[in-house]
Amino acid sequence: MSNQFKEALAQLNKTCEIMNVEHDEVEILKSPQKVIEVSIPVKMDGGDLKVFTGFRVQYNNARGPFKGGLRYHPRVNLDEVQALAFWMTIKCAVADIPYGGSKGGITVDIKQLSKGELERLTRGYVRAIAEFVGPCKDIPAPDVYTNPQIMAWFMDEYSRIKGQNEPAVVTGKPVEIGGSLGRDTATAQGGFYVLENILKKLKLKNDITIAIQGFGNAGMNFAKIAFEHNYKVAAVSDSKSGIYNPEGLDVNKVIEHKNSTGSVINFAGARNISNEELLELPMKVLVPAALEAVITKDNADKIKASIVLELANGPTTIEASEKLYEKAVLVVPDVLANSGGVIVSYFEWVQNLRHYYWELEKVQANLDKQINRATDLVWRYMKDYNVDMRAAAYIIAIEKIVKALKIRGV
Ligand code: NAD
Repeated sequence: MSNQFKEALAQLNKTCEIMNVEHDEVEILKSPQKVIEVSIPVKMDGGDLKVFTGFRVQYNNARGPFKGGLRYHPRVNLDEVQALAFWMTIKCAVADIPYGGSKGGITVDIKQLSKGELERLTRGYVRAIAEFVGPCKDIPAPDVYTNPQIMAWFMDEYSRIKGQNEPAVVTGKPVEIGGSLGRDTATAQGGFYVLENILKKLKLKNDITIAIQGFGNAGMNFAKIAFEHNYKVAAVSDSKSGIYNPEGLDVNKVIEHKNSTGSVINFAGARNISNEELLELPMKVLVPAALEAVITKDNADKIKASIVLELANGPTTIEASEKLYEKAVLVVPDVLANSGGVIVSYFEWVQNLRHYYWELEKVQANLDKQINRATDLVWRYMKDYNVDMRAAAYIIAIEKIVKALKIRGV
């Protein structure tokens, strides 16, 4: 078992002990309901055939259809997908949207594929898992290195199999074919609403400096929104490395630089730094927005931020979380901080099922309301139970899932 899924289960056990949950329900929550592993043969441009491995883990659907993203990354493996599927189950319950949790992935380095190969890989994956997904069964969405175009191919292939248009099978689609306005920036926008709510609770207003690791959908959009709201974004990074200017970066210019050079590094007026250095900068807010397990027992002591806003899934290990709690660093857990993405995915699905589309203002107002309600509840549980924010979020989620399991008679 990988550390990640072990970590997820350790968090579950810790929460169940605090809550005194009955043994049977804990047992149910310890394993996914279904694990699907498929081989995907793809004809490469050069004429040879390559076989890729894909996964879909359907963790729990007590509260509604399975819901979770699809990741394309060379590190994707079954244990990682299981952990991510577990976290989705928790996240949907914390966000109070009527879904269970799942996750999918393909072990692939998309930087080595042409557009045609990527499309054939995606369509092959859909054909391999088609019987297990569907608008009322399991609804994928984008995650690391997947995007609206990939969701469009997913929806198209599934619709061909079903012989009719099925936009609600997947979220994060381009708006032209049933995507929701605001879905592309929803994870970052939601994270920003959460941060503003927490800063208000902590009565912190001035000198909010921010470092962001990861400059993709979550990290770059978060940097842009924070910059537009006059926060000082002083450091950002991508898979190559990072940049730092203590006076603050002009995020729009960094985006232009990244678009023209392929990376944030060597940006005029900023110093190049490593991804490790970025995590240890003296910032008010640290935003991990790339991959898992970047804050560990080895570097937790060196974290100088007062708030860690987890836009990535699982960026802080349990041991590191405990160290940060002792140091009074407030870790805003992934299952709350990045739930804006799945909340607007839920809005997209509702719009698809109704065939009636909302204006951007309505999407954002509803996201604001939903994520702030969740933040307020997590904050209240944190105070009531005298635990960290992650444990508070897990208590809320497990209460809801266990209640659903009991009512359904599982
Ligand atoms: P993305 O593919 O758009 O961007 C990933 C970014 O991380 C890229 O800038 C890449 O260069 C960078 N990166 C990759 N490896 C890195 C490394 N070793 N060190 C530093 N940076 C690295 O992906 P995304 O959608 O922004 O997802 C990022 C994180 O946010 C993931 O943990 C994902 O699960 C989580 N998340 C995303 C969404 C969403 O809606 N996109 C929703 C919830 C959670």
